[in-house]
This record gives sequence, C-alpha cells and structure tokens, in this order.
Amino acid sequence: MTQNIPHYETRNAICEYGRSLLEDDLTTGTGGNLSARLDEDHIAISPSGVPYEEIAPPDVPVVRTDGTVVEGEIDPSTELPMHLEVYEQRPDVGGVVHTHSPYATTFASLGEAIPASHYLLAFTGTEVPVAEYETHATQDLGDAAVEALGDSYNATLLRNHGVLTADDSLEDAYTVALMVEYCARIHHQARAIGDPEILPDEEIDRLRGKLDSYGQ
Ligand code: 13P
Ligand code: ZN
Repeated sequence: MTQNIPHYETRNAICEYGRSLLEDDLTTGTGGNLSARLDEDHIAISPSGVPYEEIAPPDVPVVRTDGTVVEGEIDPSTELPMHLEVYEQRPDVGGVVHTHSPYATTFASLGEAIPASHYLLAFTGTEVPVAEYETHATQDLGDAAVEALGDSYNATLLRNHGVLTADDSLEDAYTVALMVEYCARIHHQARAIGDPEILPDEEIDRLRGKLDSYGQ
C-alpha cells in the first residue's frame, strides 16, 4: 500500500510531526503548519484546517514551487505562500515549521525579539527576531518572515501571530521550534523574578559550532 503513495515517507513525517505539535503544546486546534522540500521543484505541506489526528499521508498535498498542487485531494495550508517564499530565498532550508507556541507567541505579541538568556537559543541564531505584522495567509507575511530570517537565522517570531522555523530538514526545523519555545519560557520566567544576563553574540557563534556536532 505505502509504495503506491508518492513520497510516502516525507508525507508520513508531516502527519507525525503534526501530531507532535499538539503533544508538545506547540499549537492548539488546527493552528500551525509544516512542510518539507522533496526536490528542487516540489514540497510536501500539511493540509489546511484538518485536525492533526485525522491527517493521513495521502491527504498531505505535494505542491510545485509555482503553487500548483500535484498530489493530494485536500487544499494545502493557507500559509503555503510563506513556506514557498522561505524555500525560494533560502536554498539551505529543507524543512519549515510554523507554530503558535504560547511563550514564544507572547513575545511575538509584544513585538520583542527573544534574546539569548539560555545557551540553547544558539539553535536559532543570536536571537529570535520579530517579523513585521502582516495578515495571516498572505504573500506579505511570507515576505516579512523571510526578511526577518535573513541569510542565517533559523527562526523568527511572526508579530501578533506565532513562530516560523526553518532548517536543513523537517526534523531539524521541528527541534528548533521546541528550542524556541523552551528559551521563550525560560526568558519569560527569568524576567518575572529578575534581570537575566544575555549571552554575547561571540559565545552564541561558538555554541553554534558545538551544537552542530552534538550527539552520537
Ligand atoms: P492552516 O490550517 O491553513 O495551515 O492555517 C493555520 C495557521 O496557523 C494559519 O496561520
Ligand atoms: Zn498561524
């Protein structure tokens, strides 16, 4: 059965990481979306407005970079323009995750970048910047997000909305989404009872090299 479904593994990974978004409290309801690059001209992206528990691999749309759906019967995420813009502007990116995770979104609603009050922020860059507010599901939101990501950030806050992460793979982009939320929570807590010290950019640059080679 699985061999009849094109790009089964990647589309199945989108289903599984979608369910993880709920389990890890990175979103609520059908909020958020995920995608992965399949080849130079195609991505797979979560369908729009379908409860994550109900998405099966054949429901995951395969979309050409011009926005045409080539596989799947259900409409792709309304944030397709934002995902496509990231893949176009950042050839290094293989996976994109958008969440509404609560602590990070608190800073997004304040329009405040998350600074490096914890070393794990190095997963994303020297800070998590904030993209200008634009209406959800628009090309303008994609443009604002890509401008904030620049050439090297792996995450940005979307003002008054949520979080966008981008990394080599869907798995890595998902890890960055977890790290952003964790660091946002620690920063919020630290600020609530004191004045956290922020790690300097040079230390974050050093940590980025170390984190790249962490693990077995
Ligand atoms: P979709 O269900 O269309 O992916 O939209 C969810 C969302 O988070 C919009 O910003
Ligand atoms: Zn959203």
